[in-house]
Amino acid sequence: MFGPPKDVEGKCNARLFLSDDYGDNNCTIMCQLEPNHFSLHKETFTRTWMVNADGQMVTSEIIITWQEDETPHHHIDDEE
Ligand SMILES: [Zn+2]
Repeated sequence: MFGPPKDVEGKCNARLFLSDDYGDNNCTIMCQLEPNHFSLHKETFTRTWMVNADGQMVTSEIIITWQEDETPHHHIDDEE
């Protein structure tokens, strides 16, 4: 499907637009936690997303959490 998804009734519908970081149609998110942590994987970063009318940069903290490590060689290690 192309184009933005339509709003879902009864949901917040806030959006986060991540971009392709290596020109390979993927947006790579990397966990910043210590090895062998037990919580969800997590990457936190601050995005400067606009300059307001006073010329000040407005920043937004982005926190992404996910369950499965999708690194290919990590999956091979898991199967041993
Ligand atoms: Zn992790």
